[in-house]
Amino acid sequence: RKQKQKRQFAVIGLGRFGGSVCRELHSMGHEVMAIDMNREKVEEYRPFSTHAMQADSTDERSLHSIGIRNFEHVVVAIGDNIQASILTTLVLKDEGVPHVWAKAQNHYHQKVLDKIGADVVVHPEFDMGKRIAHNIVSDKVIDFIDLSDDYSMIELRATSAVDGETLNTLHLRADYGITLIAIKDGQHMNVSPGPDEPIREGNILLVIGHNNDLERFEEKVL
Ligand code: ATP
Ligand code: ATP
Ligand code: CA
Repeated sequence: RKQKQKRQFAVIGLGRFGGSVCRELHSMGHEVMAIDMNREKVEEYRPFSTHAMQADSTDERSLHSIGIRNFEHVVVAIGDNIQASILTTLVLKDEGVPHVWAKAQNHYHQKVLDKIGADVVVHPEFDMGKRIAHNIVSDKVIDFIDLSDDYSMIELRATSAVDGETLNTLHLRADYGITLIAIKDGQHMNVSPGPDEPIREGNILLVIGHNNDLERFEEKVL
C-alpha cells in the first residue's frame, strides 16, 4: 500500500479531552502541535507532541505567526471559556484551516460553533452519556454510531438464538428492514457476508438501519 503523506495536526487546549486527543495522535506516529496558554500544560505535553507551544489562541497574530493555516486538522478543546473557544474557532476558519474540530460545553455552545463554521462539533460528555445509556439497556450492543436522528450502525454480539442462522434464514431485509454489513469472528472480519454464511454464537454483527427496526431485531432475535 502507498505510504500516506504525513499530515499535520494541532490541538488547542490541553485539558483532559484535548490532552487525550494529542497523546493519541502522537502515539499513532502523527505530527501534532500542542498549544495551551498555560505554561505547565505545555511542559506536561512536550513529551506527547511534536511541538508544544504556549500561546493564547484568541490572539490571531500568534496563530497566524505559527502558520496555523498549514495544519490540515485543528482541534479546539477549550471547554470552560466558551468565549475563547468561539473566538479561536473564528480565527481558525478565518485563517483558512480546512478542518476545525471544536468541543462544545453545552447545546447553546454547540449551536454557535456550528453557525460560525466549525467543521465538526463534538460534545464528549453528552455523546458518551448516550453511548453508555445504550450499553446499559442492552448488554448485546457493543457499540453504536448515530448516522442521523433516526438511523444508526450498531455492533451486536450474536447469541445462541441466531447460532447457525444465515442471511437467507434470518430475512433481515424483509422482516426488519435492516442490513448486516459485516460478521466479525475474533480477528477475522467478513465484510460482505454471503447469503448462506452461517452466524455463530459470539460473532460480532455489524448492522445498519432505522433505530426502531434495530431495536425490534435486538429484542426478537437476540
Ligand atoms: P476537560 O477536557 O478537562 O473537561 P475542558 O473542556 O473543561 O477540559 P478547560 O479546562 O476549560 O477545558 O480548558 C482546557 C485547556 O484549554 C486548559 O488547559 C486551558 O489552559 C486551555 N485554554 C483555555 N483558553 C485558552 C486560550 N485562549 N488559548 C490557549 N489555551 C487555552
Ligand atoms: P460533567 O459531566 O458535566 O463534566 P462532572 O463529571 O464534572 O460533570 P459534577 O459537575 O462534579 O460532575 O457533578 C455532577 C452532578 O453530580 C452534579 O449535578 C452534582 O450536584 C451531583 N453530585 C455531586 N456530588 C453528589 C453527591 N454526593 N450526591 C448526589 N449528587 C451529587
Ligand atoms: Ca470540563
